[in-house]
Amino acid sequence: MTARPLDQPYRTARTVADFTSALDAVRTRIAAAAAEVGRDPAAVRLLPVSKTVPEDRIRRAVAAGLVRLGENKVQEARRKSENLADLDVEWSLVGHLQTNKAKDVAAFATEFQALDSLRVAQALDRRLQALGRGLDVLVQVNTSDEPSKYGLAPEEVPSFVRTLPTFTALRVRGLMTLAELTTDRERVRGCFTRLRVLRDRLRDSAPDGVGLDDLSMGMSGDYELAVMEGATCVRVGQAVFGPRAVPDSAYWPT
Ligand SMILES: *Cc1c(COP(=O)(O)O)cnc(C)c1O
Repeated sequence: MTARPLDQPYRTARTVADFTSALDAVRTRIAAAAAEVGRDPAAVRLLPVSKTVPEDRIRRAVAAGLVRLGENKVQEARRKSENLADLDVEWSLVGHLQTNKAKDVAAFATEFQALDSLRVAQALDRRLQALGRGLDVLVQVNTSDEPSKYGLAPEEVPSFVRTLPTFTALRVRGLMTLAELTTDRERVRGCFTRLRVLRDRLRDSAPDGVGLDDLSMGMSGDYELAVMEGATCVRVGQAVFGPRAVPDSAYWPT
C-alpha cells in the first residue's frame, strides 16, 4: 500500500511493452522471494488488480498476457467485464461485498476473495444456483486486529468455514487477508504468518469439499514478504499498472 516504503517508485504503464516489463519485474521479484525460502515460484499466482485503471489501458495489459484481473468494487468490475467481454479475461472480486450486489457478482465473476459473512454466502449461493454457476471463494480474515478492516476475526473462522458446505455453488479455496497498514515490516509479516498458521491449523479439520490451499496475501508494497510466508496468490495493482490517484481509504474505510 502507498503508506509503505518502496524501493522503487511506481511507473504508469501505458504500452504493451510497459506492461510486459512491469509484469516481468514483479514476477522476477516473486521468484527471488520464493527462492529465498525454497518455494516453487510456480506455486504463486500473480493477480493484477486493475481498479481505477481505464479500459483502454487494461486492453494493453491483457495484450501483454493477462488472463485474470482483480477489481475491488462490484460496479466498476461489472462495467469493465461488459465492455471488455471480447477479451476473454476472468474477473476476480477482491473487495467487500454487500448482499444487494450478490446478483451482479454471480453474473460475471469467477472468483470472490472477500467472503466474510453468512449473509453474503447465502445471497451469493442463491444467485449462483439460479444461474447454474459456481464461484471460487476465499474467506477474508482480519489478521491485523484493526477495527476498520473487513474480514472475520481469526477465532471466528473455524466455525464459519464449517457452515460453508451448505452453499454448494461456492467452491471454497482458502483464505485472504490485508496486512496492517504500517511501515513496520515485522508487523506486516506477522499478519501473513497469522494467516498461514490459521490455514495450516484449519486444513486438517476442514469439512469435505472445503479447500484451504489458497493463501491470498501481499500487495504492491509487501508481496515479497507474503511470498516468503507462503502466499499462493499476490494481489498487485500499482506495481503493475502504476500509481493510483484514489486513496486507499476509498477501499478500506477508516
Ligand atoms: C487495490 C487492492 C490491492 C492491490 O493494491 P496495490 O497497492 O495497488 O498493489 C490488493 N488487494 C485489494 C483487496 C485491493 O483492493
